[in-house]
This record gives sequence, C-alpha cells and structure tokens, in this order.
Amino acid sequence: MSYDVQRIRADFPILNEKVRGKRLAYLDNAATTQKPRAVIDTISRYYETSNANVHRAVHELAERATTQYEGARDRIAQFFNAQREEVVFTRGTTEAINLVAYSFLRPLLKEGDEILVTGMEHHSNIVPWQLIAAERGAKVVAAPVLDDGALDLDGWRALLNERTRFIAVVQVSNTLGTVNPVAEIIAEAKRRDIPVLVDGAQAVAHLKVDFAALGADFYTLSAHKLYGPTGFGCLLGKKARLDAMPPWHGGGDMIRTVSFSGSTWAEPPYRFEAGTPDMAGAIGLAAAIDYVEAIGLDAITAHEHALLEYATPQLHAIKGLRLIGTAPGKGGILSFVLEGADAQDVGSILDMQGVAVRTGHHCTMPLMARFGVSATVRASLACYNSEEDIGQLAAALNKAIQLLR
Ligand code: PMP
Repeated sequence: MSYDVQRIRADFPILNEKVRGKRLAYLDNAATTQKPRAVIDTISRYYETSNANVHRAVHELAERATTQYEGARDRIAQFFNAQREEVVFTRGTTEAINLVAYSFLRPLLKEGDEILVTGMEHHSNIVPWQLIAAERGAKVVAAPVLDDGALDLDGWRALLNERTRFIAVVQVSNTLGTVNPVAEIIAEAKRRDIPVLVDGAQAVAHLKVDFAALGADFYTLSAHKLYGPTGFGCLLGKKARLDAMPPWHGGGDMIRTVSFSGSTWAEPPYRFEAGTPDMAGAIGLAAAIDYVEAIGLDAITAHEHALLEYATPQLHAIKGLRLIGTAPGKGGILSFVLEGADAQDVGSILDMQGVAVRTGHHCTMPLMARFGVSATVRASLACYNSEEDIGQLAAALNKAIQLLR
C-alpha cells in the first residue's frame, strides 16, 4: 500500500488552520508534533465518560479511569517491548532524566567520577548530570562531534576510563538529526559494566524502538513528540535497576505503608509516581501509539526519509545556505544558517509565509559553539509533511534572501 500523505494530513485538524492568512507548512515537529483527531477525541472521551482519580476508590468511574490508565501502561509497554513494571510515567523526557539522576546516580556518585555524554546532547541530558556532579565533586565529560554532525565514536571510546560511572546519549539529535550508534555504545558500556541512559525524545516518532533488544538500562521519551499530549512521558527502566532505586518524590500512591515511625515504598513503577497522575496523558499517549501503528512506523520512517532526500538538494541549491548536520543515515531534521542573515529574522519571514520552523540554539548550546554559530533555523519533519510543505519552505527562503540582502 502506498503512503497517502493527504489522507494522513486529514487526520490532523490543525493542519487546516491558516496562519498569517497563508497555508500552514508545519515544520516544527522536533519541538512538538501536532495531534491527530483520534488522540484529541480519546482525551475528550476520557473526560466526558470516565474521569475520576485512579487507584484509590471502588466507584464505577474510578474503576473506568484506572482500567484505561493501566491499560495505557500495557499498551505503551507492548509498543516499546518493555515489561509493564518497567514503564514509569513522568512529565516527559526532562523529568525522566532527572529521576535517573537523582534516584539512581546521585547515591552512587563519588568524587572524581565521570558522567560521559556527547557534544550533541539536549540541555536536559546535560544539566541534571551537572547538578549532581557539582554536589559530589564529579564531572560531566562530552564526547566530540565530527564536522558532519556524526558522533566521533573513537573520540567517545577514548574518553571511557575507570572513572566513568554513567553514560548518557541522545539517540537522535534534535538539532542535527544525527542517529547515534546507540547499540554499539550500549555494547561497549556493558563490557565495562557502566549503566547507560538513552534519550529517545527525538527517536520514538521516527524509528522503531525495542527496549528489551536495545539493552539500555534507561530510556526516556516524551508523548508530545509522538503525536500525543504535552506534559506526559515515560522512563523505561530495566526492572533490576528500578527495583534497587529509592523514591525521589514523596507523596500519595508511591507508598506501601506510612507511619510516623517510618514509611515503606511501593514497588516500581508506582514508587516513582507520587501524586495524582496525568491519566489523560497516559491514555492520550496510548491512543497516539495506536495511531502510529495503524500507519506503520516503518512506513513513516520511509516517508520522512524520502522527504528529507527531496528537501536536501532544494536547500543546498539556495545560495548562501549552510546545512549543519549532514551525517549519513540522519533523520528528518534540516538545520541551517543563511549567510549574512540572522536566524531569528529568517524565521520571522518564513512565518509570514505560513512556514513554522524553529530558530535558536534548540537547547543545545554546546553544539552551537562546536559549529561556531549562535543559532540555526531548523525545519523538522513528521508523518504528515508533504512535498508541498518543502516547496513552501524553499519559496519562503528565497523570499527571505531577497528581503534580507
Ligand atoms: N531531549 C531531546 C533530544 C529533545 O529534543 C527534547 C525536547 N526538545 C528533550 C530531550 C526534552 O523533552 P521534554 O521537553 O519533552 O521533556
């Protein structure tokens, strides 16, 4: 069956919006994806028919809410090939990484220890490690990035040593589109018995992730990058790791018993889920997964790849445009600068043409420094983008050049 992008576009009501009076070309998917009708309706239906607090009541609505909420956990676990006990609900990738930093690594970290990351991490995979490293006299070390935006794997290996206590790596760079060799990184880490966290925020909507096969200790994701709601995500954690971790937030739902002489903790994942959770978030993510699976993640990957191949020469043909991030096998992200033009100005002119892109450092300031720029313009692809969107981008860029030169 061929990929019918127009049919897919019709599933996303927001794509019919006119912006600045123009057809919307939404190319800011790495920041957040739009939501299909199926996800929006599932969330509305939950509030219309089933809303109640989960877990702690016997009434019918609480039972419906709990069944749907825990059913979502099963669905998410199945999609990522994880056990349901390995799926911890969080507010997103950022919270998931902080959970690992504070609950798992902080108690283990000693003076002189090193946390090995890469030079292309999002700030959320740098700053939490810096915070705990500063407390313990440890340090965060970053592996080099090659000129094309690929990870320098030899450089990464050269930084491994007996002080390396933890490894964190982004699977797909939100700024460059680089797909990192996480299987090799995990294999090397395992040989040395070093735990690994993979930041999958930019991966899950674009390539199939099998948590069991991957072998990472921790994997993080955000629902909103996978056509689901904002403010919800998961930490996938190997059961043995989670079992050994103390709570990090205290409150309701994460305890087994509470008394003034001391409290005891629930089993994972509940140990890490204090307070009333985001029921609609979980149910919304499960609906997004249903949506993606109905299209087929492989079909989406192939579509985005074809679109990237279509777009790249068109951007290369624009005079003075420099693409940043051209690593082989990269995902659907086009980051670039226009010679002599401020990225912000370019973004504003694109916006006037109905083209939504992101400009700035994309929460990767060290990477900007590595490439000697302070900001880029970033167009990022999703399942509903079409050749028309790319044409609109290219035309708007040519307009920007006329206006800015
Ligand atoms: N890591 C990467 C690679 C990202 O692209 C993002 C979101 N831009 C994050 C982490 C943080 O995700 P969230 O803001 O959803 O917590």
